[in-house]
Formats: sequence, structure tokens, C-alpha cells
Amino acid sequence: MSFSEWILAHGGDAQAVLFFGLLGFLILLERAIPRRPWAEGGAKRYVTNYVLMAVSIVMFTAIPLSFLSAAVWAEQRGVGLLNSVALDGMAVIAITLLARAFVSFFTHFLNHKVPVLWRLHRVHHLDTDLDVSTTTRFHPMEIVVNLIIGVPMIVAVGMSPWVLMVYELLDAAVTLFSHSNIRLPRSANFVLRYIIVTPDLHRVHHSTWQPETDSNYGAVFPIWDIVFGTFRTKTREPQETMTLGLDEMREPKTSRLLLLLVSPFLRLQERDASSTD
Ligand SMILES: [Zn+2]
Repeated sequence: MSFSEWILAHGGDAQAVLFFGLLGFLILLERAIPRRPWAEGGAKRYVTNYVLMAVSIVMFTAIPLSFLSAAVWAEQRGVGLLNSVALDGMAVIAITLLARAFVSFFTHFLNHKVPVLWRLHRVHHLDTDLDVSTTTRFHPMEIVVNLIIGVPMIVAVGMSPWVLMVYELLDAAVTLFSHSNIRLPRSANFVLRYIIVTPDLHRVHHSTWQPETDSNYGAVFPIWDIVFGTFRTKTREPQETMTLGLDEMREPKTSRLLLLLVSPFLRLQERDASSTD
């Protein structure tokens, strides 16, 4: 069995082992080498974030459509760019990784700029603290929105299913890592942030100050932020003390699960969709 066949057969199991193994490891590491002092939310915030994690997992298992199943569908029917032209294997790997990263970047950008999508996505940003428990704190409907935007792009490019599975493993690992409250050595962070999304880089995206919130949209690779000028390493306040979350709702309200679930229908202060700096 080749690597590509193995990853397609066992990628889902590998993803679950990787996700929960790394989640446990990072929870311990956050206690050992925290980047920021522990703040506000307490137990209720953790319950809310982990219930939303459980809901996300149920949604992923229950919805009969995924980026991977869309890519398999396109490959079997010869639909999409990469399924229509004969390309070198390395080119297929590179194009699939870059295009899949662009799907994340573009969807996340729309989630910030389209008011109705922001109402769903702000559940993620309403967390007033940031650690591994924030990774999957999403409104359940955001998963559906991401599929509606992403699936046509996956099919149009004709992304390679096995490379897509590799990306999903990277996505599980890097998103847990980038939300974690861990301190990296300065030199490691300086180099790493140009290759993958680091905790310091992603924390800028969770700042209350909108020019910082509207930056660093990438989930795994920062490349599209660098290309489109939304890459931001400097912060107005120091990373250790900068305010996270959104001004329009703070603790203890932001840890109330039912309030978060109905929050897309609430008239909170709207953000400036045109803000770039
Ligand atoms: Zn965001």
C-alpha cells in the first residue's frame, strides 16, 4: 500500500489521534510555559468551549459532505483543473496545498467582511481569552457556511484527495498549536511565523482592536496573508497584556452557551467592514 492509499484509508483515524493527543499535550504545555497570565473566564468558559467542540465533531460526522468527499467526487469524474491536465506529482502537491490554504484564507476573510457571516464567526472572536479550548469554539452554522464556500473551490481546482487529507492533518495540528497559550523561544517564533501560523501570530487576530482582528486570516500557512498584505506581526499593546475578544460583549456573558448560539440574531455593535488599518 502506497503512502497516498494509506493516508486516504486511515487519515480520519490519524486525525482523531493527532487532535486529541496534541490537545492533551498542549493543555499540559500551557500550564508549564504560558505566554500570558490566565484570565477571566474560569470553568464556565471551558465548559462552553468544549461543548462547542463536541457539537463541531458531531456536525462533521453527521454532515454527509466534506472537502475530502468533494475532492474524491471530482477526481472520479475528471472534474476540475488538476483532474483535466497531466501534471508532475510535485506540482499537484504544491498546487493542492496552496489552493487549500487559499480556501481557508478566503473563507475566513469573507467571515470578517460579510456582515451576516461575521455574526456567526464572531462567536469564535467573543472569547475574551485564548488557549487550545478556543480552537473549535465556532457557531455550528459556520461549519455549513465554510462547506458552501469551500466545496465549489475544491471541485473547481480538482484538488488531490490524498494531499487534501495531509492538509487536514496539518490543519488539526497547526490550529491547536496557534490557539495555544504557550511561550516559544523568540528565535523559533521569528523563523516559524513565516512558515506556519504561530500562537503569537494568531493572537494578533484575536485582538479587540479591529485593524489587528482583520489580519492574519491564514489557518496553517501565513503565505496568503503575506501575498495580500494582511500579515501582521507587531501589536499595538504587548502580547502579554493586549485585550482579546470583542468590545461589544465581555465576560461573563461571553461564556454563556445559549447566548452564544443565539448571538447571530442579536444586534451587537457592528464592525466596520471597510477597515483595513
Ligand atoms: Zn477570525
